[in-house]
Amino acid sequence: MALINCKECKQEISSNADKCPYCGNKMKKGGFGCGTLILIGIGILIVLYIIGSNSESGGIITDEQTYSKSWRSPQGSEFRDIGRIIVANGIKVCGEYYVKQIESNEYVIACSADGTTWDYFVVYTSLDKIYRANEEMESKLNPPR
Ligand SMILES: [Zn+2]
Repeated sequence: MALINCKECKQEISSNADKCPYCGNKMKKGGFGCGTLILIGIGILIVLYIIGSNSESGGIITDEQTYSKSWRSPQGSEFRDIGRIIVANGIKVCGEYYVKQIESNEYVIACSADGTTWDYFVVYTSLDKIYRANEEMESKLNPPR
């Protein structure tokens, strides 16, 4: 139990007192009020959100709109660039593949060797990189046919 000074009469009183025993001044309770706790809660949620979105970057699609796009056949330079990256990385399952464009140099592709089982990859054509889609992405992607 700590001692504080009354704001009115400056007498030493218990910090737990509701009002000053000398002058009757009502004491404001210190510590965390309800509003403070709500602010802390919001702060924690914001931090968790930032951590969550950062951990999804790098070979993983963060843009939810990408998932709702339709699969289409690669065209022109896409066919050439994506095909080159597939071959360069020794990926054998892309006998047949379809693309969803994420950004100008970023695609998600669905590959199949037999037309029934599909593997999903993220391709960065400007970086010559290809990454296998993570489980979360796979669960959101439907086969092209
Ligand atoms: Zn007082």
